[in-house]
Formats: sequence, C-alpha cells, structure tokens
Amino acid sequence: TSGESITADQLDLLSKTSMPLCMRQTHDALRREHKLKHWGRVQYGLFLKAAGLSMEDQVRFFEQEFTKLVPHDQFHKEYAYGIRHRYGKEGKRTDYTPYGCLKIIMDFAPGPGEFHGCPYRHYSQDHLTALFGTLGLSPPQAAELRQLSKSHNYQIACQRHFEFLHPGAAAADQEISAGVGNHPNAFFKASRAYYDA
Ligand code: SF4
Repeated sequence: TSGESITADQLDLLSKTSMPLCMRQTHDALRREHKLKHWGRVQYGLFLKAAGLSMEDQVRFFEQEFTKLVPHDQFHKEYAYGIRHRYGKEGKRTDYTPYGCLKIIMDFAPGPGEFHGCPYRHYSQDHLTALFGTLGLSPPQAAELRQLSKSHNYQIACQRHFEFLHPGAAAADQEISAGVGNHPNAFFKASRAYYDA
C-alpha cells in the first residue's frame, strides 16, 4: 500500500522496488559506508522528504547510519541541522523542493567518494555494467540501458528501467507514469501507484 507517507524502516525495500537508479545508488552507499557527502545528503534528503518521509524519521535514519562512524553529538551538530533546514525548520525556513532530472543530470556530476548525480549520465560503461549486474536485470535489458546511456538518452534509459521494474506499465502512459525520467519523485510516485493498482 502506498499512501502519502513512508517510514524509515521501509526504505531498504522501497529502494529496490520503487526508487530510480540515482536514489537507489545513494541509499545503498549510505547503508554501506555509513556516510554521505554534502550533495548526496541534499539530493537524497530532498527526495525522501518529497516521498513522504517525516523530518523526525529522516533524522533518525541518517543518525542510525552516521553514528556508526561519528558520535551522536557530532551528528547533531554537523548533520541534523541540515536535515531540519531542508524541511524548512531552520534558517530562512524555506520549504526546499527536490531536484528534477535535468538539474541532476546537468549540474550534479559526483566527484570521488560521492554518490549523487544521475548514473546514466555520470557513470562509465564499466561502472554501469557492474551496477546492472546487481539489479537483477537480464543481459538484454542491461545492454539496452547501457546503449541508451552511451547515446546520451539518459532519461529514456530511466523510463525503460521503470518498465523493466514494473512489467506491464509503460512509462509513456500518462495515467500511471507521467514524469518518469523527468523527476525522481515522479518515478517513485508512479511505482507506488503501480503497486497500489
Ligand atoms: Fe535519477 Fe532522473 Fe537519472 Fe532517472 S533520469 S536516474 S530519476 S536523475
């Protein structure tokens, strides 16, 4: 069931069933490395907020991972403020909106040790091959996504990935999947609608 809100304990499952590749990558990196650099926290944090995760749950979720490496008080000093800020609860109290695909693709090249950005745009072919091997895609599906990435059709690759993950759903079908390939949260929302239908 979907509903408007999600909880932190659903994220591992949702990352596999319903998140686009960019966010799944960031989620996996956070779980694996127990840290995330600035733009990863911003990109993923705003996505989670728009996906319906409460501020309290997001603080708890990041705290649970980060405090495997840093003390709780350091987490609260250095990171919790940023999360509250992105929910509009600190500073200028701006209600920040999550980034769309164009911004992520154009502006968000990840450096070493960073996990934001769009994998179809920013990962090498070798990196994509290794990644697709972990996603349960068939060899022809992986080859198609690699080819779309190579020919700079990043957002179409994302739509095709959506279709592979959700058999029978066409990303071009406006009813269920309007915006897939244009916004990470549209991908997520369409996936939730698919499983709810
Ligand atoms: Fe994420 Fe958009 Fe790239 Fe898909 S096309 S992986 S949603 S940035």
